[in-house]
This record gives sequence, structure tokens and C-alpha cells, in this order.
Amino acid sequence: MRIPIFFGESREICPCPECQSPLKHRDYRLRIMKLDGGVKKILRVERLQCTNEGCRRIHNALPDCLTPYKHYASEVISGVLDEIITPDDLEDEDYPCEATMLRWKHWLMVNYVRIDGYLKSIGHRLLGFDQRLLESRISLLEKIRLSNDCWLEAILRMIYNSGGFLVPS
Ligand SMILES: [Zn+2]
Repeated sequence: MRIPIFFGESREICPCPECQSPLKHRDYRLRIMKLDGGVKKILRVERLQCTNEGCRRIHNALPDCLTPYKHYASEVISGVLDEIITPDDLEDEDYPCEATMLRWKHWLMVNYVRIDGYLKSIGHRLLGFDQRLLESRISLLEKIRLSNDCWLEAILRMIYNSGGFLVPS
């Protein structure tokens, strides 16, 4: 079976999340993304390296194709998901139409279990979270969502930097 290669390349370069220094292009890596029904997609993910000699960390650029609707600011997307922005706000031209809002909600629903699984695995490996918390039914996604206005951006960075992927809606 031929697996299509998807060129996921991020045009927007953010500073290093660790030290805020500029990042520069390092290389590309191929990653396999598994979709529902056993379908596989190969993604070309750009890796960026921090230019600060004392840091030199490598980060994955978030591929545009995987972050939902990148042309909207993530605050707008999380505002819709948190129902701070509703279809009643439609007269504001910066806001998406109702169908787009529904697609975002659908995207979160489709990825909900996946996101929580990634967060628990990252929490265990990198942050030393207690085993009981990981086995509990507490949703880390909900916890981060309630504690941080930038929750969407924060979870996307954590997941993509640890090599994870979310599925498009
Ligand atoms: Zn850095």
C-alpha cells in the first residue's frame, strides 16, 4: 500500500519555549500518523533548534495541517471550545462562522481521549506525576483547561514536542 506523504511544515517560527531565544531550522523527520481505521499517513515534520548556546534544545515545529485552523489565533479557538465565544458573537468579523465552531468542537471531541492519554504519559515520564493520579479518572485536559487561559497552545506544544499527534476532524 502506498502511504501518502504529507508535508507538514510550519511557517510561523515561535521562540524557544524553554528560554525564549530564536529557533533556527535543523532538519526534517518523517513520522507516521495513524488515523482511524488503520489508515496511515507519513508526515514530514520540521525540527527547530534553539540558537542559545546554553540551551540548544530541539523542538518540533507544529505542522499547520495538524493544528486545527491555524489561521485563527488559538485564543479564538479555545474561546469557542470553552464557550466564551458563541454563535451570538457572529457579528465580529474576526470570529469564525457557526459551522467552523462546530467543527472545532468536533475536533476536540474526536481527540479528547487521545489528548488525555498523551498528557498522562508526558506527566508520568517527564513530570514525575504520581501513579495514582495517572490511573485515576481525573482528566488532565480538564485540569489544564481550567487553570490556564492558553491551555490549547500549552497542550499542543506538550504533545507535539513529545512526538505525539492529534487527528484532524
Ligand atoms: Zn532555548
